Amino acid sequence: MSAVSYFAYLLQSCTFRAKHARVRARGLYNNMTQKVPPIERLDATFLTSAPDLRRCPRDAVAEVAFAGRSNAGKSSVLNTITNNRKMAKVSKTPGRTQMLNFFDLSRGGRLVDLPGYGYAKAGKSAQAAWQKSVNQYLSRRDNLVGLVLVMDIRHPDQAYDQELLAWADASAMPAHVLLNKADKLSSSRQQRELKTLRGRYSAHENLSMQLFSALKGTGKQALIEKVLSWTATG
Ligand code: GDP
Repeated sequence: MSAVSYFAYLLQSCTFRAKHARVRARGLYNNMTQKVPPIERLDATFLTSAPDLRRCPRDAVAEVAFAGRSNAGKSSVLNTITNNRKMAKVSKTPGRTQMLNFFDLSRGGRLVDLPGYGYAKAGKSAQAAWQKSVNQYLSRRDNLVGLVLVMDIRHPDQAYDQELLAWADASAMPAHVLLNKADKLSSSRQQRELKTLRGRYSAHENLSMQLFSALKGTGKQALIEKVLSWTATG
């Protein structure tokens, strides 16, 4: 990089940082003076599907990936935060279930729906292939800024969940666990499950957790805020 272009680059990044600091400050000011209405939904449109890292779209935009065991409710979670049933339909279209599916957010950033793991009907070689593509995406995608891990609150923290959380911790990747289908348990059991899991992972620095119900919309606002906090700084 020549001295001139390096300077231009520095200047650009300073301007960018200053602009974002101003926006952040304005947000803070708004919070102090007037009630800012909560963001009800993330406006997302399907961008593309990719079978592997090589065929992913250009990595210029902050991406938040959604992972989870098949049937934990990942598609329902995506539907809920976008208020859009078509989101899940896109990812469940035959041929796309084992792909990485990309959705652009109108506010900037992307959601990436990773193939659900443990899909009973997929053969062993198909599972190995997509697992490799997911692992490559997670370990090499430079613009990945956070991982949302969807679990069924009745069967949380299974083997691959544990592997993903260990990987996120080792690579300092921010992760957020959703204990989905909370509506299936009493509120005292929900709290107990959350407390147990928090205790188990208390040593993980970049990890947060919450209760969620895609069916009832419980926890929707907290998840939207988490995604926005990642994509705004990514
Ligand atoms: P995915 O395979 O992880 O994408 O899971 P889906 O979103 O397809 O959900 C699997 C099943 O769980 C469907 O029958 C959903 O209706 C159901 N489901 C998903 N989220 C919830 C939830 O929060 N509460 C309840 N009761 N059912 C849910």
